[in-house]
Amino acid sequence: DDSGAMTALGRASGVRVGGWGDAGRAMRGPPPPLPVLFVVLVAAPGTRAAGYETCPTVQPDMLNVHLLPHTHDDVGWVKTVDQYYYGGKHLVAVKNILDSVISALRAEPSRRFVYVEMAFFSRWWHQQTNATQQAVRELVRQGRLEFANGGWVMNDEAATHYGAIVDQMTLGLRFLQDTFGDDGRPRVAWHIDPFGHSREQASLFAQMGFDGIFLGRMDYQDRELRKKKREMELVWRASASLQPPTADLFTGLLSNAYDPPKHLCWDLVCDHDSSMVGDPFSPEDNADVLIDHFLDVATKQWQSYRTNHIVMTMGGDFHYENAHMWFSNLDKLIQLVNAEQQASGSPVHVLYSTPACYLWELNKANLTWSLKEDDFFPYADGPHQFWTGYFSSRPALKRYERVSYNFLQVCKQLEALAAPAANVGPYGSGDSALLEEAMAVLQHHDAITGTSRQLVADDYARRLAAGWGRCEVLLSNALARLSGSQEAFSICPELNISVCPLSQTSARFQVAIYNPLARKVDRMVRLPVSAGAFLVKDPSGHAVPSDVKGQKPSPELLFSASVPALGFSIYSVSRVSLRRSKTHIPQPISQKPGSAVLNIKNEHIRATFNLETGFLMQIEDLEQKLVLPMNQSFFWYKAGTVGQKISQSSGAYIFKPQQQKPLPVSDSAQIHLLKTPLVQEVHQNFSAWCAQVVRLYRGQRHLELEWTVGPIPVGDKWGKEVISRFDMPLDTKGYFYTDSNGREILKRRDRKKNYRPTWNLNQTEPVAGNYYPVNTRIYITDGKKQLTVLTDRSQGGSSLQDGSLELMVHRRLLLDDNRGVGEPLLEEGSGSWVRGRHLVLLDAVGTAAAGHRLLAEKEVLAPQVVLAPSGSALYHPGATRQLQFSGLRRELPPSVHLLTLARWGPQTLLLRLEHQFARGEDSGRNLSSPVTLNLQVRRQVRKERETERERERENPHPSLLGFPSPGTTPTPTVPPLDPASITLQPMEIRTFVASVQWEEFAWSHGGDPVQA
Ligand SMILES: [Zn+2]
Repeated sequence: DDSGAMTALGRASGVRVGGWGDAGRAMRGPPPPLPVLFVVLVAAPGTRAAGYETCPTVQPDMLNVHLLPHTHDDVGWVKTVDQYYYGGKHLVAVKNILDSVISALRAEPSRRFVYVEMAFFSRWWHQQTNATQQAVRELVRQGRLEFANGGWVMNDEAATHYGAIVDQMTLGLRFLQDTFGDDGRPRVAWHIDPFGHSREQASLFAQMGFDGIFLGRMDYQDRELRKKKREMELVWRASASLQPPTADLFTGLLSNAYDPPKHLCWDLVCDHDSSMVGDPFSPEDNADVLIDHFLDVATKQWQSYRTNHIVMTMGGDFHYENAHMWFSNLDKLIQLVNAEQQASGSPVHVLYSTPACYLWELNKANLTWSLKEDDFFPYADGPHQFWTGYFSSRPALKRYERVSYNFLQVCKQLEALAAPAANVGPYGSGDSALLEEAMAVLQHHDAITGTSRQLVADDYARRLAAGWGRCEVLLSNALARLSGSQEAFSICPELNISVCPLSQTSARFQVAIYNPLARKVDRMVRLPVSAGAFLVKDPSGHAVPSDVKGQKPSPELLFSASVPALGFSIYSVSRVSLRRSKTHIPQPISQKPGSAVLNIKNEHIRATFNLETGFLMQIEDLEQKLVLPMNQSFFWYKAGTVGQKISQSSGAYIFKPQQQKPLPVSDSAQIHLLKTPLVQEVHQNFSAWCAQVVRLYRGQRHLELEWTVGPIPVGDKWGKEVISRFDMPLDTKGYFYTDSNGREILKRRDRKKNYRPTWNLNQTEPVAGNYYPVNTRIYITDGKKQLTVLTDRSQGGSSLQDGSLELMVHRRLLLDDNRGVGEPLLEEGSGSWVRGRHLVLLDAVGTAAAGHRLLAEKEVLAPQVVLAPSGSALYHPGATRQLQFSGLRRELPPSVHLLTLARWGPQTLLLRLEHQFARGEDSGRNLSSPVTLNLQVRRQVRKERETERERERENPHPSLLGFPSPGTTPTPTVPPLDPASITLQPMEIRTFVASVQWEEFAWSHGGDPVQA
């Protein structure tokens, strides 16, 4: 029972309880006390659990066919989000779908419908009259309009980062909670279209309190075997760290993806299916034929499932614009099938239902389900048809999304730290909402995947850019408020191509660096400048070492900045006389056959290059005395084309190499060397469209490989899929490891094994069929040494033989792969030329996790660099300038990641904390142990009398239904929350809503503070 003191506090202070999940908790409000729920489920089986009261009556001794009327509305794909919503010539409009469905539901009380995408529904909702809204509330209360998922979009699972998944679910679920209260709470996750399924996604859904998930796509071989073995429904144990059943999720695999059975499709967009007539006097009557067909389909499908319930998904992509057409046919079908059953004793009963009501029947069956512990990657819908290309498609958009995740967290944190002065201030009005929404849209399974048309991808980028604009205003307001001075703050979004007008044209400027982590960071800052030498001073006025390197048009200034937890440091930069420093320029290295080697090194690492080839040939960790010879270079796969034996081409979704062996981009690279006190670099030029800088900063424990690829030439009429490959003499015994959505690690088998954990694979594509999503990292190990590569965006990756590791960095294709997008992935615009980084870590196995976990955290939430000219006004008369600030009194320990800090309401903050290590993963510093925190800390904003109470409480997050699987233990009871002692288990995420009072301070143009 959690209704202890903290609940009382929560209620007394009027806090709507938020929780993991989201919204999760927020949606639900205070949950029923657990013991009561337990009694209901155990003592009175058959009684409807909360949320399931409205389910339809079934026939216990018959086969019940649950018809699930639904529409699948992609949030952008071949058309943009707005084109889909408003429709147009020859184009379905989502707003018409919702209008039509609501009036069809109101016309006939037995009808039900499931809706998923809040990006569309919330927009439609705000355009309705009060009367319609009231009618919809009633439909939701009656369970006739059911929401599934409830996220802003149905997110992709291969290219998404878990932080962005949590954010997009929070946005949608919060809308439902605010609009419908508990009546609108989705019980079921509905991922019927994503192209493969990650284990982390299931773990997140389980922790959000979903009772089950339904999936539409899975490998064709897996599907056939599961049908035979009647294992289409199972319990997915989605975490190797969390105590079962915390991350257990009931999983249902739909029989026919998300489509209706053949000949039973009654939408405007269905081609040839004839309507149900059911008039014995009409020469057109087809009832007998269709009923026989329906009964046949139902009994066949039943053979693959275990209870006397099955589902049929009655809908498809953008169906129900004319809902009457669908529903009137379904009405007739139900009437005729059930009449037939009474007349002739057929054992089939058919009814309108919903995913949650079907799940409720499965739960009541009280069976023990088989257990799955791996994931559903890679996905193939037929021989040679592996959907593993989209792991890497549109790498520029994938990077823009990842950088935007970083910036959104900075924006939300500053909104929480400085609100309301962040929202309205000297620079105008700003907020995080627009970027939050754009980021949620980007998680859609045709957005971050790169599987939309070009014009839609451009629209996604436009949405992100608009969101950045509002956040930049917020960031300026917040920094002005917290630093006490009104600088003309600006960010330089094009630093990746060394463009930043302010630093390139000013002799004096300031650099504010904001750190979104709950620990101090040291970061090398690189800024393009005009030629010359510069003096850099830290916040206390001391000069710090700096270098200028490179030459016109873009010499770069380098200095190392130190930034406190959840705060900023402001450095000042001024140009000084040329004699005080020199500009370092990369020197060409002469390469002769048989000549020796070249090194770059710092205090931790030495990297050695083969002077004959110009390739990286060895990495050494100088402290741990680890040496790993290697060869790193770039290759490309010839994209498969239609013709000859196999009629599948590589496209936005599918990776289908023409030959299994990739071709080298070049046999050697021309190299230049640069050494300064702060950085050592080897510049490698592989070809006119492929280059790399291998870089070691002073003090850095990893090697940075900054690659630049594109525009990929296709003049030879071959599409190309470009990889960076590392080959090492490591005995990896057929295994490699990839992350799942940036969190837990999954063990994979390499190509020799052609292996799937739960079935005997008949492999048709030895390369594409062994590719897996890599969101943040991939590694291989021989049991002693581990080589880890961190990525700066999602990419496809594999280890195709022992000691080899490859990542697909870019792809350009001349043909469509025939999965609906109808466009080749040509990327002729700004996406054609891509720069990215691979961070390479060499470690002993026991300490490797500490290295890659903490480095990945620093990369995903990197410091935000903000520039300002010098010589500004005070924020208000009497303000004190602050060149350094921290929003935390104490840093969090290294195993704890601050996942979310955001403003939640006028007087509440949302705080999510996460244990970022897996069980048993770190043996060096014991970072895998449970950790206990004291959150009873008064946040201190320096020199501002900001009174603040903090109250935290958390909801437990039980799912309502338990599904037995072999070895399941009962759900542990949730102890009452004690903010002085918050314990996080390995890989656990906990969410808190804290009440706070921000100092009421309104910025006014006069510059005088207004105390309200
Ligand atoms: Zn879709």
